[in-house]
Amino acid sequence: MKKGKVELWFITGSQHLYGEETLKQVEADSRAIAGALDSSGMIATRVIFKPVLTTADAITSVCLEANSSSDCAGLITWMHTFSPAKMWISGLKRLQKPLLHFHTQFNRDIPWSEIDMDFMNLNQSAHGDREFGFICSRLGMERKVVVGHWQDNEALQAIGNWSRAAVGSLEARSLRVARFGDNMRDVAVTEGDKVSAQLYLDFEVHGYGVGDLADVVGRVSDMQVSALLEQYGDEYFAPSKILASKAVREAARIEAGMRTFLEEGGFRAFTTNFEDLHGLVQLPGMAVQRLMADGYGFGAEGDWKTAALVRIMKVMAEGLEGGTSFMEDYTYHLDPHDMSVLGAHMLEVCPSIASGKPALEVHPLGIGGRDDPARLVFKARTGRAIAASMIGMGDRFRLIVNNLEVVECPPMPLLPVASVLWKPEPDLRTATAAWIYAGGAHHTGFSQSLTAEHMAEYAAITGTEFILIDQKCDIELLRKELRWNDLYYRMKPA
Ligand code: MN
Repeated sequence: MKKGKVELWFITGSQHLYGEETLKQVEADSRAIAGALDSSGMIATRVIFKPVLTTADAITSVCLEANSSSDCAGLITWMHTFSPAKMWISGLKRLQKPLLHFHTQFNRDIPWSEIDMDFMNLNQSAHGDREFGFICSRLGMERKVVVGHWQDNEALQAIGNWSRAAVGSLEARSLRVARFGDNMRDVAVTEGDKVSAQLYLDFEVHGYGVGDLADVVGRVSDMQVSALLEQYGDEYFAPSKILASKAVREAARIEAGMRTFLEEGGFRAFTTNFEDLHGLVQLPGMAVQRLMADGYGFGAEGDWKTAALVRIMKVMAEGLEGGTSFMEDYTYHLDPHDMSVLGAHMLEVCPSIASGKPALEVHPLGIGGRDDPARLVFKARTGRAIAASMIGMGDRFRLIVNNLEVVECPPMPLLPVASVLWKPEPDLRTATAAWIYAGGAHHTGFSQSLTAEHMAEYAAITGTEFILIDQKCDIELLRKELRWNDLYYRMKPA
């Protein structure tokens, strides 16, 4: 796996008590572990060795440096020896990046026949990491604890899951969401507090009149349109009659205009609203699908929370198999022996989740009152996936995740939209009741690449309430969990 420029810093704690020789060995061992993590395909980022820390000043410096580095997604700490934790207080108090405490040791096995006091003095993480854990708990710090030998796949996988969440939280720090129009009128769950979102989740949301976008679309040249039509012909099943149609030319014009608008404004996520299309001749369908395929986050009907979530999920999923899309629970199949959910949207589902080459089609929409829009039609790949919903609870955000199994979908010749058929865990009855008790939205981020573990780590890093609906879901326990969580978040200082 090719790794980008995002880094995790590997920080080893020690002290001067043991003398120069021991510290040299600590450094050599620490370099070896950092190097192994750096080259591990299970970890999404580079892992950079930082010099062994033995003083409070050095610890504080590295924490402040991590805060201000735009490439540093977080710290991995390890206490090779005992590292008295009072010297960590100042640095940890100031740390504003995610923290993973890797409770490992250099040697996997105890060398029974050779172990002596020197060995005991060098390999002290069993108690050194407890001292470090205490101060993190005493400071009330959110952190991930991973236990195991540094060559153990289970430990590497846990660090890997967390590394993706850390990358997602770094992305949010520079994420700007553009909204074309406002929320769909009267819808509650897509509303919310954008100032709180910026405070707790870091991303920014900026609103524009649809006319601002229409102006940019109006300036798109015929040459830009022709270049896109050529791409459409290469990438999709598209009869030349469709490709030459006015609807597809207009869709290409909207795509080129949207791209320019988003690139010029530094936006990596956006929303549209079919109620508000002044100056656009059709609802942006294919444009949204193609922008999502290029990594943009999207939320329909002004849903900026889902737009940001889809972008963050796409970044977290980079390099993994499968796609990630905006999604909506559309309609049910309630045969008691085969209960399933048909997920789709009017148009806007990302072709990254498609099982084959999408078809480019033009059909009437039924709502919105504009020209017939172009769209990519396909079925999703079968297999495991997740749906994730971020909702605003007033005093905090809540992330709800359901494990799904995407199944084969019977032909639906009269439904010309991209769609996904899935069975939620543990079963539709339990999962949807749980989802509704938790207040989960109809809009979700849907991913075939990410797992609930990735999302749980992201929620932990961002201080977001996390509700998991999986095989173990018990409705009565979940109702209690929701009540307990309400109490916790109302008592917790903001
Ligand atoms: Mn919708």
